[in-house]
Amino acid sequence: MNAPEKPAPLFGRPRAEVEQALTEREPVRCPLCEIEPVRFATDHQGFHLARCPRCGLEFQSPRPPFAKLAEWVYEREYGDLGEAAGELTPAKQAQFSRQLERIEALRGGRGSLLDVGCGAGAFLRAAAARGWQAAGTDIVLSEGARATGARLWPGRLAEIDFGGARFDAARFHHVLEHTENPLAELTRVRQLLAPGGVLYVSVPNLAGVGPRLKSWQSRLGLKRNRWRHYAALHHLWYFTPATLARLVERAGFEVRHWETPMPVRTGRPAWLTALYRRLLEGPRWASILDLYAVAP
Ligand SMILES: [Zn+2]
Repeated sequence: MNAPEKPAPLFGRPRAEVEQALTEREPVRCPLCEIEPVRFATDHQGFHLARCPRCGLEFQSPRPPFAKLAEWVYEREYGDLGEAAGELTPAKQAQFSRQLERIEALRGGRGSLLDVGCGAGAFLRAAAARGWQAAGTDIVLSEGARATGARLWPGRLAEIDFGGARFDAARFHHVLEHTENPLAELTRVRQLLAPGGVLYVSVPNLAGVGPRLKSWQSRLGLKRNRWRHYAALHHLWYFTPATLARLVERAGFEVRHWETPMPVRTGRPAWLTALYRRLLEGPRWASILDLYAVAP
C-alpha cells in the first residue's frame, strides 16, 4: 500500500478538504450490543460522533472505511517517528515505572510482555531494563523498535501468527481508540495471555473534567473547532471508565484497578504538579484513563 506521493496531512484541515479526501462513510454498530448508535454531534471536520443507546459506548458512526483512514492517517502521517520519540526521558521513565510496578504487583513478578503498538520502542527498553522479556507489534515497525533487540511482529494483532507464544502481560498504550474494533483486539489479546496474565490499557478519559468541559463548550457553540478534543480523524472510539471496563470484561478479563494519572511534564513546577494530582488524581477526574485487568 505504498502511496505514490505524499499529500498534505489532514490534521487541522477544514471540513471540505477532509471530505474530499475521505468521501465514503459506513455505519458502525456497537461491538457490545450489536445495535446502531445514535448520532449526537458532528465535529469541525465533519466526523460523526455517536453513542450506543444501550451501553453508552461512544464511537464514530457512520465513519470512513477503516482501510481508507489507515491509509491516510497511519501510512502517510505516523510513518516518520523520529529517534526522539524512542528516547527514554525522565518523565517517560517515571510513567513506565508506575505502569510496570502495578503490572508486577498484579502478576506477582515479571515475565514476558507484549507491547501492542510499540511505536519507537521506549517502553520496550524500559521493560527490558527491569527484567521483563519484552516483545512488540506495530503496523509498521520503526527503526527505534528494531534497535531494542526485542522480539517484534509487524502487522495488525488479529492477523499476526504468534506461533503458540503466550505472554504474562500485554499493554495497549493509546492504541485501542485507533482500532477498527476494540472488542476484537481485546478478545485476541486474551487468547495470547497465560492464566493470571495482566492486561494494561491506557486511553483518553472522556469522563475527565477537561474533556467534559470541552464537550459542554462544543454543545453550546462556544468553541471554534467543535468537538476537536475527540480527535476524530485518528480516534474512532471514546471511552469512559464504565464503557472501557465493560469491553474489557466482555473480552474475558477481570478489572482490578483503574486510575487517571497526571502526565509528568518536565518544565512544570513541582508544586503545580502536586496541586493537579490532588485535584484530579484523587477523585480520578484527569483526562488519561489507565486500566489494569487480569486474565482468570
Ligand atoms: Zn452498546
